[in-house]
Amino acid sequence: MSPKTVCVPRLLEIRSGAVADVAAVLAAARFELRRTVVGTGGGRTARIAGGVVRGLREAGACAVVTEAVPTVDGVDRVVAAIRASGAETCVAVGGGRVIDAVKHACSVTGTAFVSVPTSLAHDGVSSPIASLIGRDGRRRSIGAVMPEAVIVDLAVVHGAPARTSRAGAADLLSNLTALHDWRLAAARGEEEIDGFSALIAEEAARSFLYLAPATADLSLEMLARGLVLSGLAMATAGSSRPCSGAEHLISHSLDRLLGTRARLHGEQVALGLLIAATAQGSLTAELAHAYDAWSLPRSHADLGLERDVIVRAVMQARDTRPARYTILDELDLARRPVEALVDEAFASTGERRPHAPRVAHDEQAGVVRRSRPRPRAGASPRRRTGR
Ligand SMILES: [Zn+2]
Repeated sequence: MSPKTVCVPRLLEIRSGAVADVAAVLAAARFELRRTVVGTGGGRTARIAGGVVRGLREAGACAVVTEAVPTVDGVDRVVAAIRASGAETCVAVGGGRVIDAVKHACSVTGTAFVSVPTSLAHDGVSSPIASLIGRDGRRRSIGAVMPEAVIVDLAVVHGAPARTSRAGAADLLSNLTALHDWRLAAARGEEEIDGFSALIAEEAARSFLYLAPATADLSLEMLARGLVLSGLAMATAGSSRPCSGAEHLISHSLDRLLGTRARLHGEQVALGLLIAATAQGSLTAELAHAYDAWSLPRSHADLGLERDVIVRAVMQARDTRPARYTILDELDLARRPVEALVDEAFASTGERRPHAPRVAHDEQAGVVRRSRPRPRAGASPRRRTGR
């Protein structure tokens, strides 16, 4: 057996002011820029992309701009733009959705993919996995290419809405519950652990978990580094396994239940993480500090959701990815034990501090209630039979 080969970006820049230098740093790294496609979104990201396009054109590139949306049709449009222009390099300037769409289009066309995130909302900024919405309206994770370059401008991500960085922080911390699930699956004979991948994912999350945020820039730099390392862990494993366990299944389940009302991926993962950690009987004390420092959502009310939608999401979470063995496979997922688990999880990080934000953007969820912790009843792990 020979050592495993892992694809990593050949260019990585994490600093303030990096967006202004995209053309120069790509040219210095010998990217083919004569024909380049820039995929982007609307509003703020389109303005930032405009600066990148100007820089590319000043450097002599024929840069074409296209809208990048993570749907089947949206990806087809980016593919068409790449093919029509003959581009050999495609730059994604935007949030996770833009990056997912361009990443997938690059894997279809064999084009060099450059990731320039304008926010740090999840660990897809530098991973070989794209999340796309199918024609049936359901979101799916699909294998795609690793970026050849990742350029994170700390000033740009600092200017993104604060909830995006909170979401990214939760997505990074969720490596810990995901790894717990992976080890559980290995212990049950369901899967094998890739030790190197698990090491990368765990170190990324743990160094962030114990970070005392000194300045916003330092915190965002640590977040960016952690998310890049999470992507490397996924590339090493060849799947999302080191960064996706029960907490992600709960988020996927919320996506199904909420549809267009779904919150940011990482915001939902923040709640799934508390539930998974509580079910696993681990981490809750350590997580309390990080949830406080980053003002992460700690209950359904913080995301403007009803408790019942969380309970139903947990009950149905296994259906979103039945082959992925997690702590959910060992729980009684009937309503009452799940209600008890959810209440215990949302009480686990203590009382909300006065400075922590409440998300007040819900338009359809109706009555928003704070749940009262109930005594735990029957949510203790039990072995599932028949596997
Ligand atoms: Zn995630």
